[in-house]
Parts: sequence; C-alpha cells; structure tokens
Amino acid sequence: MIWKPAYWDAWRSGELRRRSQEAEKLLASCTLCPRNCRADRRWGRTGYCRSGRLPAVASYNAHHGEEPPISGTRGSGTIFFSNCNLSCAYCQNWPISQLGQGKEVSFEELAGMMLELQERGCHNINFVTPSHMVAQIIISLELATERGLRIPLVYNSSGYDSLEALALLEGLVDIYMPDIRYLDRAAAQRYSGASNYPEVAKAALREMWRQVGPLVLDGDGIARRGMLVRHLVLPNNLSQSLECLEFLAREISPRVYLSLMAQYFPAHRALKMPELARGLSHEEYQRAVEKAEELGFDNGWFQELDHSGGGPADRIVNNN
Ligand code: SF4
Repeated sequence: MIWKPAYWDAWRSGELRRRSQEAEKLLASCTLCPRNCRADRRWGRTGYCRSGRLPAVASYNAHHGEEPPISGTRGSGTIFFSNCNLSCAYCQNWPISQLGQGKEVSFEELAGMMLELQERGCHNINFVTPSHMVAQIIISLELATERGLRIPLVYNSSGYDSLEALALLEGLVDIYMPDIRYLDRAAAQRYSGASNYPEVAKAALREMWRQVGPLVLDGDGIARRGMLVRHLVLPNNLSQSLECLEFLAREISPRVYLSLMAQYFPAHRALKMPELARGLSHEEYQRAVEKAEELGFDNGWFQELDHSGGGPADRIVNNN
C-alpha cells in the first residue's frame, strides 16, 4: 500500500478547504490557544502571543538534532515560528519566542518553505512552536498540498494547546511531538506564565494520543505517524518529573515514545532565579531515568549528561 500523509485525504475531500476557512474566521476573535484572548488578529498583534494574521517565521532548515525517527538521515524540515503563547523563564530561544525575532511571510511563502524542505529531501515538515500559528499552518498547508506536498507533518509544541485547535488539526497532523513541562500550577505560572498549563497539557496530550496513537516507523526507522512526548528535567524538581512520568504511564501509555531530556542550562531570566541558575545534576536526571524504567517505558531516548555537571549532551541513547 502506498503511504499518504494524513492531510492528503482531507485535501482531496475538501475538508482541508473547510478547515482553512474555519481557521481564518477564528483569527477575528482568536481562541486558537488556551489563552483565549479573543484578539482580532486580522488588524493587530494585541493577543498574548503578539502575532497577527500572517505567519511569522524565524528560520527554516533541515535539522539533524531531533530524535532519530524525526531527523532520520536527511533531516527534519523545521520551521521555527516567531513568538509563543508561553513565556518560559529559561527559554533558550527567547529572542525568537519572546522578542519576536523573525519576519512575517505570506501564506504562499510559508507553503513555499514546506515545499522547499521537501525538495531538499527532509523526512517531514516540523512546525516548531506552532500553538499560536495553527490557523496559518492550516491555510498554508492547503496551498502546499495543492502544489505537491506529500511528507508527514510534525506538530512540535509545548503541550499548551487547546482542544479547539486540536480539533482543527485532527486528520491533518501525522505526528504530535508535545512537551509535558509541569504538573504543578504554581511552577507553571512562575516559570512559564501559565498557571493552567497542567490541566491544559494533560487534556491536550490525551487528545493527541487519541488522534494518532503510538509512533509508527517505516522500514528505515523514520516516523510516519503517532506521538512522541518530551520531558525536560529541570533542576530542583521544578518540572515535577516523577509526576509527569506517572501521568504519561497511567493516562497515556507506557508504550508512548518518551524523550527524557537532560539538556537544561540556565538562559534568559533563569540566570537571575537562584533555583534555576544551575544545570541538572547526575542524581536529578538519574532519578527520572530510574522512574521511567520502573514505570515500564520501553520506547524512547535518554540523554547523557556531560561530566562537567550538567551541560547539554549531544548523544541520544536509545532505550530499547
Ligand atoms: S493564539 Fe495568540 S491571540 Fe490567539 S488566543 Fe492564543 S495567545 Fe491569544
């Protein structure tokens, strides 16, 4: 059987056109993410994400640093959007996510980027920080599909996604790659400016899992469909790692692919927050690894800390 991306049938049936029109309408009173600002994005950038009607893109490229089934051998076609609907104190990309570095492009130009990445051999189109750009993605996807886009879409988000947006994306996204960042409201407020992050992310991950299920790989080990969850372990248990893992095992599945990330280093406002102003210790990361093993996660990756006390590692270790 010839493989087709999720959005192909939606395009052929006219459903992608209908979603694109619905998404465009939502920009008049934006409820596309859990902030529910109701900003009129057709004429201004007054919502929390400071984003207007058009897509704003910081960069696009073939990226080789994602998890192996996403990067493969030819790279993942990442498109980094400017701005964000969170404001994480430790964001390593804060000039892009919080200062809006990048530029507005037309829907046609965003579609052209997708096609260029496909032309360059990328295994997928990987939308990075997409939660405030759901409408722009859908509108541009229709244009790109008409012009020959055929590779899987990866929705690479913080997990701060509304069910309304996920309903618009159902049957269009092949691979969901969300984070689970915290399960404590006070931590979510202090470090990302979103006290409702825990309940929003839990609902979003359940819905993503319902839509796509476990990761499905092709004969070369490249992801075609499914969900992969990332958890960044923060120092001083600020990301409630053990609780996050328990949630995933209990309410998603131990079969979900898990990327347990050790690459935290202080950046941006974290440098001035004593509890965040250091890297992760071996003990802190090891505790999370042991918990993941105890809970029976048998698909995914653990990272290696370097021995200088918590710098980012570049080797990803398959846990299988
Ligand atoms: S996408 Fe932006 S404008 Fe829309 S609800 Fe979210 S933060 Fe507000």
